[in-house]
Amino acid sequence: MTPVLEIVDAVKEYTGGVRALDGVSLTLHAGEAVAIVGPSGSGKSTLLNLLGTLDRPSSGTVMLDGHDISALSDRQLSALRGRRIGFVFQQFHLADGMTALDNVSTGLLYAGTPRKWRAAMAAEALERVGLSHRLKHRPHELSGGERQRVAIARAVVNRPALMLADEPTGALDTATGRAVLDLLLDLNRDGTTLAVITHDREVAARLPRQVEIRDGRIQAEVGV
Ligand code: ADP
Repeated sequence: MTPVLEIVDAVKEYTGGVRALDGVSLTLHAGEAVAIVGPSGSGKSTLLNLLGTLDRPSSGTVMLDGHDISALSDRQLSALRGRRIGFVFQQFHLADGMTALDNVSTGLLYAGTPRKWRAAMAAEALERVGLSHRLKHRPHELSGGERQRVAIARAVVNRPALMLADEPTGALDTATGRAVLDLLLDLNRDGTTLAVITHDREVAARLPRQVEIRDGRIQAEVGV
């Protein structure tokens, strides 16, 4: 089966000569749950940007659903990304003035979903994350854990193949963080491929595969 995402020998250099990734190869197969761990400055965010196709490597290949992204225009790539990848961030990145339902609906804007379907799909996604009683709440009326659930609903409303979570429990207390990770793992069991970037070893240990990055290189893999 075609991997959901495949990176081959990726190098990323920033201006000033910083080599943030130094020849990284990583394949994410459908249905996997992977933790990407490493200390601060090791290249995790840079790798996340490549995995999410938000940035292109200086050299090497990134394939999303079998498409070499270097062959796609920015417009084609954002359309493919919008359909195939859902993002979850440490700081939730919800719009303050919008209800939970409207925040989740925005996850459908770039997918070209007709307006008449968006609210129903958003409500269904909020139900999947256990928030059907919070549809009309705005972010400031929700707890941290609830906000992250809204962000997760937004990431999965479009049924993406891959969910990329960047320190998803980093702004939450331990118990709430565990519950959020439970939810991500539930969605993974339902079929969404999951990659979690974290510096928290306890979080990483709950995922079946762990990839450790250090100084821009993959150092060790567990569970492959
Ligand atoms: P992590 O997410 O693990 O903390 P990063 O991917 O952010 O690591 O950074 C890896 C290395 O690349 C660091 O040395 C960092 O300073 C450098 N770096 C990251 N982004 C940029 C940038 N936009 N310009 C120059 N250097 C950068």
